[in-house]
Amino acid sequence: MVYRFDPDGSGSVIAEAIEENLEPFLGLHYPATDIPKQAKYLYTLNLLRLIPDVKYEPVGIIPPLNPLTNNPLDMSMAVLRSISPLHAEYLDNMGVSATMCISLVKNKQLWGLIACHHNTPKKVSYETRTICEFIGQIISFELAARENSQDSEYKIKLQSIQSEFIARISHEQELKTVLIQNPDSLLDLVGAEGVALSFGDEITLIGKTPEKSAVVDLLLWLDTQFQADVIYETTHLAQSYPAASNYTEVASGLLALLISKVEKTFIIWFRPEVLQTVNWGGDPNKAVEIKSDGTLRMSPRKSFAQWQESVTQRSLPWKTCEIEAALELRSSIVGIVLRKANQLAQVNQELSRSNTELDSFAYIASHDLKEPLRGIYNYSSFLIEDYGEILGDDGADKLNTLMRLTHRMEDLINSLLHYSRLGRAELQVKSIDLNNLLEGVLDVIKASARDTEVHFKIHRPLPTIKCDRTQVNELFTNLISNGIKYNKQNKKIIEIGYLDGDSQIELEKGVTDVGDTKEKTIFYVRDNGIGIREKHAESIFRIFKRLHSQRKYGGGTGAGLTIAKKIVERHGGEIWVESVYTKGSVFYFTLQ
Ligand code: ADP
Repeated sequence: MVYRFDPDGSGSVIAEAIEENLEPFLGLHYPATDIPKQAKYLYTLNLLRLIPDVKYEPVGIIPPLNPLTNNPLDMSMAVLRSISPLHAEYLDNMGVSATMCISLVKNKQLWGLIACHHNTPKKVSYETRTICEFIGQIISFELAARENSQDSEYKIKLQSIQSEFIARISHEQELKTVLIQNPDSLLDLVGAEGVALSFGDEITLIGKTPEKSAVVDLLLWLDTQFQADVIYETTHLAQSYPAASNYTEVASGLLALLISKVEKTFIIWFRPEVLQTVNWGGDPNKAVEIKSDGTLRMSPRKSFAQWQESVTQRSLPWKTCEIEAALELRSSIVGIVLRKANQLAQVNQELSRSNTELDSFAYIASHDLKEPLRGIYNYSSFLIEDYGEILGDDGADKLNTLMRLTHRMEDLINSLLHYSRLGRAELQVKSIDLNNLLEGVLDVIKASARDTEVHFKIHRPLPTIKCDRTQVNELFTNLISNGIKYNKQNKKIIEIGYLDGDSQIELEKGVTDVGDTKEKTIFYVRDNGIGIREKHAESIFRIFKRLHSQRKYGGGTGAGLTIAKKIVERHGGEIWVESVYTKGSVFYFTLQ
């Protein structure tokens, strides 16, 4: 018979050739204790063991101890080595009078045995033994190759699922989305029927799994199971985690993959219970006897009558290729995430470097441009003063235009300078009462717009927030003065306030791209002015962008809203506009 060992050390008869009158052993399992570890080890050294007569008379070695070393003789490799009396008893109980065992070794481990039994003593010739040993070696050699190729089609399928996942993750998509959007592939990757995905405190269940609350508890326990390892696998979850006995029908088998302990990212696959019946060659529990003094003794079992055991709460085993597929998926995910994080860090570094460069460039350029500009202005005025008569009215007019243009250019340069300073200055964040701040802003605006009729409406007091006072002062000033400036109504109305709760949700329904503003206070400045066409809603925030000719609406450099945007962004907020052309505009912004 051909006997194969299971990973737990027990074994079963997987092939058999017998004479008709003999009792078949095919399909029977034998407990691990039937062939002790030491015996197994010796089988890997001696590839063929022959006991021609189980009832032989052992002959002692003379002298028992080697006089040179004072140690007993190591007989591991000796063909004539006696067998253990327990083994002899075991064979005798089975009705065996002669045996020959040929070892089947895979990767230096005893994979199984070809065990030949005879019910009368039998000698086997040297030639036959040599041939048998040779056959054993050929089979051993073939075992690895055969077992590997057996699963090859399945392995190819797993690999293709795996590469599909990796391609998706490494391209655009987020890990969570990729896993959730391909539930069947995720299950097929390891041949599971259910899977739980844990991302932080968020758990997603796919297929046949325990209830969410049970998975939460299971996760807490699992977390302690990962020490140095990133994978935990069992076909008998209830044995190590008794709470799982409540849901063995969906989760007797578990394969858990730890992606990131810090971010609590796990993938946990489940396999249902498979009821199995194991036919033992005798009661495996009787393989060990408890002696009267309480010690254990391995006993050569007397009854080999078939003993059936129903195995419950177990799943089919996880194949090596399935575990490998899970591990490979993990290492690819980790690799991709690391690569993405690296790329992001690099881009960030690059971005902050180019931002700083841009700010200092704008500063240096605008600063240095001012001097020649002043020269042009001065020389133009000298020309008018000293050569006005020669130039005539036309010439003087042109020089006046030149001087006006240099003024305009100086304004633009000053705006640019101011803009670049904003980017370079450190934020002085303090707790600021916006009511107090706004009072100051309105005082200044009222003083400069004395001839205009403006109504300011503030329905409720503004909150106190953490911000840079000077910058937020400028922000409100820019928005409010624009609301007055771009307004042809006799009675100009400026409303200042903020949204929260329901009013925010209503607003968000109408606005698609406000980013993540849900938790933030949204401030607004509303006017009943000329309004802005939809198509300009973004471009007005670009530097020097004006929607009107130079002279209209009191002029301006077109930097006010760009500066407002920079202030908002430096505070970690967003700014946007909603407007009805000819009716009025609302500028919204957040500050945290
Ligand atoms: P400036 O006011 O110096 O031109 P801004 O950057 O403040 O520069 O504004 C850019 C442009 O956006 C303005 O020229 C104007 O056309 C338009 N704009 C700004 N605020 C309003 C408003 N409240 N109503 C209508 N249009 C506005």
